[in-house]
Amino acid sequence: MIEYTKNQSIFDIKNTLQNKFQINSELIDNYHIQNTDIFKITISESKFKFLKNFLKKLNFILLEKVIIGSHENKRNSNNLLKVIFIYQPFLGKFNIEFVDSIFFKTLEEEIQKTINNRINKNFISERITSALIESNGEIIEIATQNIDLHKTFFDDLIKDKLLNEFKLNQIDLNKINEFLTQKNNSICIREVVKYICKDLSQSQIIFQDNYYSICPGCDYSNHAEAVLYSKVINNFKKDINEFKNLNLYLNNHFWICKSCSQKLENIGIKNIYLNKKWAIDFFNITKIF
Ligand SMILES: [Zn+2]
Ligand SMILES: [Zn+2]
Repeated sequence: MIEYTKNQSIFDIKNTLQNKFQINSELIDNYHIQNTDIFKITISESKFKFLKNFLKKLNFILLEKVIIGSHENKRNSNNLLKVIFIYQPFLGKFNIEFVDSIFFKTLEEEIQKTINNRINKNFISERITSALIESNGEIIEIATQNIDLHKTFFDDLIKDKLLNEFKLNQIDLNKINEFLTQKNNSICIREVVKYICKDLSQSQIIFQDNYYSICPGCDYSNHAEAVLYSKVINNFKKDINEFKNLNLYLNNHFWICKSCSQKLENIGIKNIYLNKKWAIDFFNITKIF
């Protein structure tokens, strides 16, 4: 469970939205996805500014607002909006925004290169992230996740981990192995474990860790921001501090984890820009509204 800045739970926030903002509960959709929280809310335009300020104080940033209609009262007509907010645990440490930028095209090309150059040609990744650091319009460093680090087969190390750390049994392991073989070792073992464990009682325990440590390709050290950080440290040593206005562009993701946030803070990143077009597509905004 994520700790909210003001120790408010999602339940408290929903209550405030209903009571203070007078929003019907069926107009508030909220879900927890990949360790962060999303709000999709239908609200009249006149209340939007207050809502945005309220949620910003709780570290939610706006992804997109779309006009879905209008309703009239005695004095004026008022647009009805559908808005999406995403929780950013480290907002404040950084300015974080969803934006459109030419840099995301560069980051997309970098992902394509990584896919073309992968060693295991069978491997299909659900989602690959890439990131770059920019200063005064110039790209300082660029990186993608190393997709060859994902495990698509069993070895003793992973067997041991699943049995002892994650408390799976031999039957679970057989199921996982069968699935991997069926899929021709084309998917990450973590995806399979997540799938197999979704009905198991211990899956809650595993979920808190988001299973990252099962696979070196999914581990925190292989997040695009972390790979980028390692490159910066190797190539610039302390000289990175000489650059002013360091901005991070992160492609194919919608929030920054604690481990990455510490690294980005270390090298003096102030602004984090996330790919708005990609996120709108990922959260299916146009289709839903
Ligand atoms: Zn993996
Ligand atoms: Zn991360």
